[in-house]
Amino acid sequence: MKRSVDEKFENLDDQEPEAKKSKENGESGKFGPEMRIIPIIDKNLLQGTVTLTKCYVIAVQNRKITGELLSFPTKTKELSPMVPPENLENSRILPEIPSELHHLRRVDNKSSRILLHPEEKAKDDPELWSKLKNLGVQKEHVELIDIPAVRPLTRLQFDWAKEKWATSYPRNPELEATINGALFSDQEKGQIRKWSDRVEQKGCIIVQNDTAIASSSSQPDVILGHSAIETVQELAKMEREDGSYLATDCDVFVDKEPCGMCAMALVHARAKRVFFNKPSKNGVLKEGPWQLHLEPSLNHHYAVFHLDKTENGNFEEKFVCC
Ligand SMILES: [Zn+2]
Repeated sequence: MKRSVDEKFENLDDQEPEAKKSKENGESGKFGPEMRIIPIIDKNLLQGTVTLTKCYVIAVQNRKITGELLSFPTKTKELSPMVPPENLENSRILPEIPSELHHLRRVDNKSSRILLHPEEKAKDDPELWSKLKNLGVQKEHVELIDIPAVRPLTRLQFDWAKEKWATSYPRNPELEATINGALFSDQEKGQIRKWSDRVEQKGCIIVQNDTAIASSSSQPDVILGHSAIETVQELAKMEREDGSYLATDCDVFVDKEPCGMCAMALVHARAKRVFFNKPSKNGVLKEGPWQLHLEPSLNHHYAVFHLDKTENGNFEEKFVCC
């Protein structure tokens, strides 16, 4: 039988103590201790640099020579329609840019240099050197320099990398906003604060469009009765009105950082974002040797945020278990 989401959860407000309700009705100043929303992202994204690799480049000022070097085969004559567009950058004379370096431009206009090949490839290619020599390229025109080995993923990395060599970068406004602390509006911060406070009593609340659609506390008498598992099971019993799969497009608020089992259950439920209040001893999301939500082999990834309400950012997680 279909259970109405509204019927079951419409009045979570009514379950809250009066004192707590009054705290939630205003601007951030009325919430009590400040809350920091800390995104837990791959720490490589916070680096301002990317790894470098050595490549041979050609620095030649002679326009005739550069013109010859950059003479590309025409698509119709020499490339099949199956050749990806980036390969159109491949010169008739110069070796193909290897796929792992496809983020690099063939020409770095800023320094007027042309990418030849990575250090380890085509090092002693007599045919290539013979062609270059015939064009008038001298040994002194060739330099071995450091260039970005991987595609920059953030604006900061891009600004650094392009000083080394012209490179492409996939703009990701959401990632930039996450890094710059500008992801949430004041209204969203207020909503996050509200659910963070509520989940202190509940254990786990699944929220869609600022409305709770499932919630549960942990069940100590039930084997594996952790609050997130209980809540996902609760959600599975319900028929979502929009036909969405479990927690698609939903935020999950948990008081304690989920353990491996709970974190995986939230992957299966297709949660969009997971917010936790307290780091836990057996948690798998906080910064550490392995973080479940950053595991590349998973087929779904949610964003994770730690809602820190401590004064100094230090929390004794050794006493808390999911
Ligand atoms: Zn758990």
